[in-house]
Amino acid sequence: APAAGRWVFHDGDFVAAADVRLGPDLQALQYGTGVFEGIRSYAGDSGEAHLFRAHDHFTRMIGSARLLRIAIEYSAAELVDIAAELLRRNGHTGDAYLRPLAYKTALEPGVPFGVRLRGVSCALTIVSLPMGSYLPKGGISCGISSWRRIPDSSLPARAKITGAYANNALATDEATAAGYDDAIFLNQAGHVAEASTANVFVVRAGRVVTPAQDADILEGITRDSVISLLRREAAIEVERRTVLRSELYTADEIFLTGTGCEIVPVTALDGRPVGSGVPGPLTRTVMDAYDRSVRGRDPHDEQDWLTPVHAT
Ligand code: PMP
Repeated sequence: APAAGRWVFHDGDFVAAADVRLGPDLQALQYGTGVFEGIRSYAGDSGEAHLFRAHDHFTRMIGSARLLRIAIEYSAAELVDIAAELLRRNGHTGDAYLRPLAYKTALEPGVPFGVRLRGVSCALTIVSLPMGSYLPKGGISCGISSWRRIPDSSLPARAKITGAYANNALATDEATAAGYDDAIFLNQAGHVAEASTANVFVVRAGRVVTPAQDADILEGITRDSVISLLRREAAIEVERRTVLRSELYTADEIFLTGTGCEIVPVTALDGRPVGSGVPGPLTRTVMDAYDRSVRGRDPHDEQDWLTPVHAT
């Protein structure tokens, strides 16, 4: 076993986390030229853990990497196998989280700090850690951020680029300093974009809306799961369109979706209660449906969302 008791996948091998050495001139550290994913695995009822939508996460990561000309030498299917193997090696077979990161490393000798994408080598590191749900099911408070979401024309939110998350950090910092749990971003047009690390859904008069892809959002995989689950379980077709800030203040329910936060009700916004100030019925329906789906209790996993982490 590795000295630190913890394996990571780094540069093509499973190695001890303590043996990963990255230098101060790492280009990704200097300029934020890395891309990442957050993937969860869940303990099933049978005791067998499974990754949730891992293939979709790795497919998105390969897309993010293409934007920054980061070479990833594995297919999404190969990365899913590597992820499952890492969880097995670490014994992370309860609820766990995976963080794959692909990044620019060293520039050519003599060009230590060039701001560019070509002629820079790349690396891929994946870490895993045990992690259960961490947000209160009773709901969180949000504030509209005074920082706007970075537009697609400047740094696409569609790609999970490490450096771009300084924008998200500014927003969470402002929100938590004001006493809120999280921030909701507007885009340059002043329309609702997304939360700091989650997508936003709004329920008004029985209709469910979420900002469209062109609202400068990450196209969340949980967002996509919720759209399918609502279609199947409640015969509700989520409207993907421009969402106005005023729709948030007049909403019956608001909830956030993300791999990390899962489904979380927003029960207060800018110091006002959302609806009646408690998680609403549709939010609770979505929370239940999502929980059943990720735990493998949904008899309709026909979409192949689960990958078993066989304990061999
Ligand atoms: N938006 C942002 C900015 C995020 O960082 C995340 C978390 N990956 C999400 C939305 C939700 O995406 P997903 O459901 O794919 O985790």
